[in-house]
Amino acid sequence: MAALGRTTLTTQILVAMIAGAVLGIVVNALWADAGVVQDYLVDGLFKVVGSIFIAALKMLVVPLVFVSLVCGVTNLGDVAALGRVGVKALAFYILTTAVAITIALLVAVSVAPGEGVAAAEGTASFVPKEAPPLGQVLIDMVPSNPVAALAEGNMLQVIVFALLFGIAITLAGERGGHVLNLFTDLNDVIMKMVGIVMKLAPVGVFALIARTFATQGLDIIAPLASYFLCVVAALLIHASVSYSLALQVLGRLNPVMFFRKMRTAQVFAFSTASSNATIPVTLDSVENRLGASNAVASFTVPLGATINMDGTAIMQGVATVFIAHVYGVDLGIAQYLTVILTATLASIGTAGVPGVGLIMLAMVLVQVGLPVEGIALIIGVDRLLDMMRTAVNITGDSAATCIIAKSEGALDQERFADPTAGVIRPG
Ligand code: ASP
Repeated sequence: MAALGRTTLTTQILVAMIAGAVLGIVVNALWADAGVVQDYLVDGLFKVVGSIFIAALKMLVVPLVFVSLVCGVTNLGDVAALGRVGVKALAFYILTTAVAITIALLVAVSVAPGEGVAAAEGTASFVPKEAPPLGQVLIDMVPSNPVAALAEGNMLQVIVFALLFGIAITLAGERGGHVLNLFTDLNDVIMKMVGIVMKLAPVGVFALIARTFATQGLDIIAPLASYFLCVVAALLIHASVSYSLALQVLGRLNPVMFFRKMRTAQVFAFSTASSNATIPVTLDSVENRLGASNAVASFTVPLGATINMDGTAIMQGVATVFIAHVYGVDLGIAQYLTVILTATLASIGTAGVPGVGLIMLAMVLVQVGLPVEGIALIIGVDRLLDMMRTAVNITGDSAATCIIAKSEGALDQERFADPTAGVIRPG
C-alpha cells in the first residue's frame, strides 16, 4: 500500500469496517440496555446511515445490470458467443456449488457439530416458506411485463429481457447502432454513479458493521461455536483452495492477484449481506481492476449474484449435519447426496438478498426428512454467517467471470497483473 502513495479507498473501507466492529462490540458490551444509546445511535444514526448506503447501492443495481448487459450482449457480437458464455457460466456455477457443499459436508462430518446441544435450546421460531417448483422458476424467468420486472428488480427477468434487447440491437443493424451508442454512453454515466456511491462506502460500511455488532454482540456465538466455526472453516477452504485451483488450472491466472483485487467487493458483500446490492461493486472490480471485458462480466456477474451461491450452499451443508446431530438423526450416504443435489438446485432459485439462505435450508431439510424447526437453532448466528457467505458468493461469481473471460479472449491480462489498475482514490 505504501508503494501506492496515498491511501486507497479499499484501505479506508477496511479501516472503517474494523472500527465499526470494535465500536459495535463495545456498545453491545457496555450499553446494551442504555435506551439513549440504542435509540439515537444504534437504531438512530447507524441505522439511518447504513440504510441510506444500502438503498444507494440497490438504486444502481437495476439500471446498471440492464444497461451494461445490453451493451455486453451487443459487444459479444453474435448469439453463438452468448450461448457459449452462458453454458460455461452455468456449468461453472453448478459445479463449484456442488464442490462447495461437498467440502462443507466433509468438514461437518469430521467435526460433528451439534453433539451435546439440546434441541430445546432453540428459542426463535421459524416459519418456512414453500420453495417454488423448478418448472415455475423457469416460467418466472420470462417477464410478462418488463417494466414490472425492472420496477421489482427481478434479476432473472431483467437478465432475460436485456439479453433479448441486446440481441435485437445486433439484428437491427444500423438503426440498432444508434440505440447501442445511447446505451454505451448511459453505461459510462451509470458507472460514474457507482464511483460516487463507492466513495461514500467508508461511512456506510462503518455504520452497517457497527449496528450489526452492536445488536448481535459476540456472545451469541458461544453456544453454537462448533457450528459457526465449521461454516467458517468450510468457507475459507472453498474460497482459498477451490477458487485458487480453478483460477490457476482453468484460467492460468494468479490467485493472489485475484484475491487482492477482490477485497473491496468482498467488504461490500460482507457489510450488506447481499450479493445483489453488491453487483455494482463486483462489476467494477472484475472489469476495472481485474480486466474482464464488459461483454462477459455484464452477463456472468448479475447471473451469478442471482443463481450462484457457494457460501450459502456451504452453510446449508453444515446446518443439515448440525441439525441432524441435535435431533439425533443419522444421515446415510443417500441423504448426503440428496443434500448436495437439493442445495445446489436450491441456490439456483434463490435471490441474492440477506437471509434467503435460511429459507432455502428449509427445502434441504425437508428433502432429507429433518425437522424444519431446527432452523430456529441457528437463526441467532445467521446474520454474521450471512455476511461471510455473501463475500464467498460474490468471490465465486468473480472467479468464474475471470476464467470465462480468459477462455473467450476477453480478459485484459496486463490489467489483471497490474496491482494499481482501477484503484479508486478517495476524494
Ligand atoms: N445473503 C446471501 C447473498 O446475498 C444469500 C444467503 O445466503 O442468504 O448472497
